[in-house]
Amino acid sequence: MPPSPITRAEISRSRLAGNFQRLRSLARSNSNDECCDLLAVVKADAYGHGVSLCAPWLAEAGAEWLGVTSAEEGVAVRRLCPQSNILVMRGLLAGEAEMLLDANLAPTIWDHEHLQLLEEAVLRQQLAAGSIPVHLEIDTGMSRQGLPCTASEVEKFLDHLREIPALRLDGVYTHFASPEMLDAEQNSQQMARFQQGVELIYTAGFRPQWLHAGNSSSVLGQQLAGPLAALAARRGGVARCMIRPGIALYGYASRFVGEQAATAEAARAVLQPVLTWKTAIASLRTVGPGASVGYDATFVASNKMRLALLPVGYADGLNRKLSNRGHVLVHGVAAPIVGRISMDLTVVDVSHVPNATIGDEVVLLGEQNGLRVTADDHARWAETISYEILCAISARVPRVSCE
Ligand SMILES: *Cc1c(COP(=O)(O)O)cnc(C)c1O
Repeated sequence: MPPSPITRAEISRSRLAGNFQRLRSLARSNSNDECCDLLAVVKADAYGHGVSLCAPWLAEAGAEWLGVTSAEEGVAVRRLCPQSNILVMRGLLAGEAEMLLDANLAPTIWDHEHLQLLEEAVLRQQLAAGSIPVHLEIDTGMSRQGLPCTASEVEKFLDHLREIPALRLDGVYTHFASPEMLDAEQNSQQMARFQQGVELIYTAGFRPQWLHAGNSSSVLGQQLAGPLAALAARRGGVARCMIRPGIALYGYASRFVGEQAATAEAARAVLQPVLTWKTAIASLRTVGPGASVGYDATFVASNKMRLALLPVGYADGLNRKLSNRGHVLVHGVAAPIVGRISMDLTVVDVSHVPNATIGDEVVLLGEQNGLRVTADDHARWAETISYEILCAISARVPRVSCE
């Protein structure tokens, strides 16, 4: 075996599968029967975890559906997962239609423009009636994507859809603005609008198989699966429902607010971070009082200090806001980042880790001897969210699989 790269992200198969199974059980138990499924979101290179590892692992763990952003991402996932259903969640753009059809991806549609693009591609390929699955997104209150949920807009759109027999309305969905605000009025309003939209679609004679909504917070918050399953059940066995978790599969989630927050936080606490980001000490030096560290001399030693050099910087995705703020783990001890993080290098204080030696393992994200640094810690230091921290780990850092 080739030696492990020094800076690497280890991606745990058992943790990913474990998170998927925990979330699925939660969705199922909250839907009071076996009907609520999960669509596993693997967009943005599986939130920075490496889609080539994660998509097949999720499919093996039982995910029937995988969600991506673009046709290009979908084509990559299709090569990895020949049997999976793949939803492209952003509306389709010019040039994507042929790719979607060739790779048997389900596009999200809501705009007449989407139907035109698909119609042109369908005519060129002469496809059989009902052979292309499409999912209609309904805008229930985010004003971002989706068909406005009024009777006239929905009817006009469905009339247009009917004119293209190759397209089969396989799913209808919506997205929530603040699912972690458990008591927010907006959640129930959005759900009510979604129900109205679904009603209009069935009244018009369409029989979509999948009704889906929500994200990680919707699974952990445990308020969506019941109403969603009830909505599907009212369709007399034709429809199934799904929730679409992304970040929670990888072991993270937003913080919850509201009366039931403790229950949701308890569910969140059981998730296991899938990614461990490691490097090793490249060099060590001792400096005296008054020595400045790094660009712009933003750190000046007040005492004699032992400094370790790490071969990782912001080009690897280590957020520059962690300069003089964050810490890493060395020998199971927190070692503060001192001075500015450079493009390829970072200096940490190991004065209190006397046995630190060149080549010793350093954990940027993950656990060491029972101590943990999480993407939530990085997000706090960098004033952002865990999602951005994980997605920012750059392509230069190899993703390697581990148990
Ligand atoms: C990204 C995304 C999700 C997953 O969101 P998380 O907050 O990561 O769980 C679900 N649905 C849609 C439409 C998305 O774009």
